[in-house]
Amino acid sequence: MEFRGLKYQYQILKEGINAAVLQVMSDADFISGRQVAELEKQLAEYVGAKHCITCANGTDALTLALMAWGIGEGDAVFVPDFTFFASAEVVAYEGAVPVFVDVEENTFNISPRSLELAVQAVLAEGKWRPKAVIAVDLFGQPADFIRIREIADKYGLLVLEDAAQGFGGRIGERKACSFGDISATSFFPAKPLGCYGDGGAVFTDNDAWAALIRSYQVHGKGSDKYDNVRLGINSRLDTIQAAILQVKLQAFREYELEAVNRVAEHYASELGGVVKVPSLMNGVYSGWAQYSILLALEEERDGLREFLLKKDIPCMIYYRKAMHEQLAFKGMSCVTVDLSVSEELCRRVLSLPMHPYLEEVEQRKVIEAVKEYIVSLRK
Ligand SMILES: *Cc1c(COP(=O)(O)O)cnc(C)c1O
Repeated sequence: MEFRGLKYQYQILKEGINAAVLQVMSDADFISGRQVAELEKQLAEYVGAKHCITCANGTDALTLALMAWGIGEGDAVFVPDFTFFASAEVVAYEGAVPVFVDVEENTFNISPRSLELAVQAVLAEGKWRPKAVIAVDLFGQPADFIRIREIADKYGLLVLEDAAQGFGGRIGERKACSFGDISATSFFPAKPLGCYGDGGAVFTDNDAWAALIRSYQVHGKGSDKYDNVRLGINSRLDTIQAAILQVKLQAFREYELEAVNRVAEHYASELGGVVKVPSLMNGVYSGWAQYSILLALEEERDGLREFLLKKDIPCMIYYRKAMHEQLAFKGMSCVTVDLSVSEELCRRVLSLPMHPYLEEVEQRKVIEAVKEYIVSLRK
């Protein structure tokens, strides 16, 4: 059984992917080939954003947003405490201070209440300027952007959507990657839409920011690559990756997104009474980057993990450590609010196999194993 189904997916999409890759090889147009521009157009149209700028990975996508906004020393950027390291790493790397915010137990996403408390605490302390909030669409569910936007407007914060895990999610009819003033995603292979290496993209409706990001990503180019008007980085999506993503985007739109949602429904209906299954906000649709359940206690979580692995059922712990506990942030981050939900989730969370090609028998095997373990605990 596969955790993310990448081998299985390749067998299904093989013909299209092989042809797409070979085309790039024979064109020898490896950097900024036509597939890159085509993909950017398709992605922008799909998510409903005016601009899409592809880049080398999701971390760079976040960094490019912060660069376009000129975020640096003296600025506070609010980041959920329960997320992948990169969400906050980029903030500290730019010289700004990541201020950690607690999350909601039900959705795993940033808590609007905790966000407001953190902003007020930073204002009261007067050491940093509250500048932006990075809201993560964790495990595939969009963050609560309606309430985040209200708070951002009240305190003059920019909103950066970290949709590295969010591609395909929706709130009502509106799609992930369109909720931020700038939104960033990742095409790391295991993400909802993944390529065959590293890749990422930035989305925005703002013409000026889009132009700045296009400059920053190619060595701060002016009229061309050899006219350099600012210091930038080198962060582009390879043509081969763009060509692969074109094939995968089609499968994603046509059936993969619906297929993962069917798996999620099956898990929820069978496991809902056994463990705490993920809940979605009203009117929200998830891309199910992960299917993460909560056990009652850390010992039960660790026990279930062992039990599943022994049965050759892959499972993962996302995440074991809250951001504010990461050694790398010592002395360069800031905690102003209670972060106990994040700490608690780190002890109790476990992610089950989830992908569009997970067969019915495999789903049943996972469900039966979880049930068997929970029943054994009650004895
Ligand atoms: C994967 C991920 C990133 C970073 O993406 P890369 O493409 O690996 O650089 C950032 N934020 C979150 C929430 C992620 O899951």
